[in-house]
Formats: sequence, structure tokens, C-alpha cells
Amino acid sequence: MIVVMEPHASREQVNEIVRKIQAAGLGSHISAGVERTIIGVVGDSHTKEQLRQSLEATPGVEKVVLILQPFKLVSRDFKPEDSVIDVEGVRFGDGSVVVIAGPCSVESREQIIRTARAVKGSGAVMLRGGAFKPRTSPYSFQGLEEEGLRYLAEARAETGLPVVTEAMDAAQLLLVIKYADMVQIGARNMQNYTLLREVGRARYPVLLKRGPSATIQELLLAAEYIMSEGNYNIVLCERGIRSFDNYTRYTLDLSAVPVLKQLTHLPVIIDPSQATGKARYVPPLTKAAVAAGADGLIIEVHPEPEKALSDGPQQLTPDAFAHLMGDLTPLAAALGRRLQAPAAMRAQ
Ligand code: PEP
Ligand code: MN
Repeated sequence: MIVVMEPHASREQVNEIVRKIQAAGLGSHISAGVERTIIGVVGDSHTKEQLRQSLEATPGVEKVVLILQPFKLVSRDFKPEDSVIDVEGVRFGDGSVVVIAGPCSVESREQIIRTARAVKGSGAVMLRGGAFKPRTSPYSFQGLEEEGLRYLAEARAETGLPVVTEAMDAAQLLLVIKYADMVQIGARNMQNYTLLREVGRARYPVLLKRGPSATIQELLLAAEYIMSEGNYNIVLCERGIRSFDNYTRYTLDLSAVPVLKQLTHLPVIIDPSQATGKARYVPPLTKAAVAAGADGLIIEVHPEPEKALSDGPQQLTPDAFAHLMGDLTPLAAALGRRLQAPAAMRAQ
């Protein structure tokens, strides 16, 4: 349930509500919007109905609303305004299109720095690259691990691009936090609830990818795990789901964008690279994602895709990426949107 305060409710009145919720053995989460404060009540208690009546009668409260959906804090009912997630100056959800680019895996210092320079030159505002890779086969390249994280940090120092990279368990999460700016919870770990709680407690920006067989509700409940631990810095990512057709690697569920934008205040980005598995389909789906209202894209770019140690067929060359970015600028403008500029340029 959520408690909607009156527009001018005082801080003391909000504190009184929180005190009552705690006394009932339940948790509270405050969303201080521009217009009014909303307090989310989470947890399970047989005294909930009694508490609801007591809260409704408390000064400063406009109404108490029961949220019928299973996800609460991530829902628009709890927070009607879009959340803007700031990752070192990159702002997801502010209306602009954030483009993250980089190789599937970090393979060498030279490879990641070269790619970082190239994608920055074409307008990407954030760098991706896996150091811990969730590979289908145990015999495939598993990533450079901490060495890869060090190269990512060097690439950031070179270019100023903030870095997102995956962690698959709690130990990797500690390392990722040391070197990167945002942690990716990959599709295969979307329902690793222990890891989700860890990330929630870490209060560190998270890119949460939808599992290939997960429903939209399951994705939102995974985000709810993170948020219920107090971490509100979550960006959702649709990266293709399993369907009967296997011509592309997965089927990009573009309808997830408007559906998620309706259900949640969290930003939503698209990964057309994992979704298609083939570089030639990445540009059209990137454009479709912008048209569908995605808050951003995460695109795989490799200086020499044919030599890549993972996901070669789906990675764009730096030239193809530059071409795509050139196409996106007028497209975004025609849609009344714009590509996000680097933080330094925005400050001018
Ligand atoms: C990736 O980003 O390289 C990756 C493995 O992503 P996903 O978890 O979406 O498959
Ligand atoms: Mn990949």
C-alpha cells in the first residue's frame, strides 16, 4: 500500500507516518516528488488493515492506496514521475537517448582503449565491456576478470566515459564496484535473488537485463528485490526473449518499452546486439527502439569483429557504429528527441 501525503504535508507529518509503519513491523520507502511525498509500505503483516485505517486518519495524509500489482516500489503508483538515474553525469530517463557502446568482452588493453576512443568519437556517452562473461559453454572464453576491469578503468581514464560491466556473483560485484561505474546484472542472473539483494544493499547503479524467458512482471519483481534493499538506481534493459523463431538469436520484444514505461518509473534501454545476434540487424532495431521511446541503447562494437573472442557476429565495426550514430541524430530530432551529449558538453 502507499500513503499519498497532502501537497504541503510537513516533514514531521511524514515522519509520523514512517513511525507508525515501523511500529507495525513493516518497512517504509519515501518518494519525495516535486508535487507531493508518497510513502510505500512494504512487508507482510496481519495488522496491515488496522494500520491502513490509522494512517488514513493521520494529519497530512490525503489518501492511502492499495497497490494491487505484486511490484510496489518500482511501480508508477509509488512514483508517478520518471526516475532519472545518474551515472557519473550520464542521465538515464531524462528524455534524451543515452548510447552505451563497446565490445562484448574486454580482450586486451589496446582493444578496449581503441574501441573506447572510437565510440566516444561517434557520440557514445558510456563504455561497455565484459570482464566476467556468462558463456553458454565452459570451454568458451570466460573473460579477463580483474585484469579486464583494470583495462576498463584505464579506458575510462583515457576517454572520460563511465563504464558498465557485468558481475555474476557477490565476489565479482565487490571487484566491479572498485573499478566500474555501473554493474550489469546479466539476463542469466535476472532471477538470482541472492545477487539482486547484494546489489540492492550495495546502493550502486545497476543495469538489470531481462532474462530471455522472463515475463515483464518477473523483470519488475527482480527490480523490486533491488529496490526493496534501498537501491533506487536501476536501469532496465530489454535484450531479446526466446520465441519459436531462431533466425535471429532472440526476439527483441520492443513492446516491452511502452509497457514498462507505463508500469514503472524506471528508465528502459534496449540491447539490439544480444537480441539479434547479427550485426546487420542492429541498425534497424536501434532506430525502432528510439521510435518506441527507449531511454537508451547498449550496442556492441569491436575494432575487428571477425577476431572477437565472444559474440563476433553481432558486433558492429567502429565505422558501422559511426554510420548508425549519424542516422540516429536526425531520426531522434524528427521524433522530438535528441541523443544525450557528453556531460562536459551539456555543462557548457
Ligand atoms: C552481454 O552484454 O554481453 C551479455 C552477455 O548480455 P545478456 O546478459 O543480455 O546476454
Ligand atoms: Mn555479448
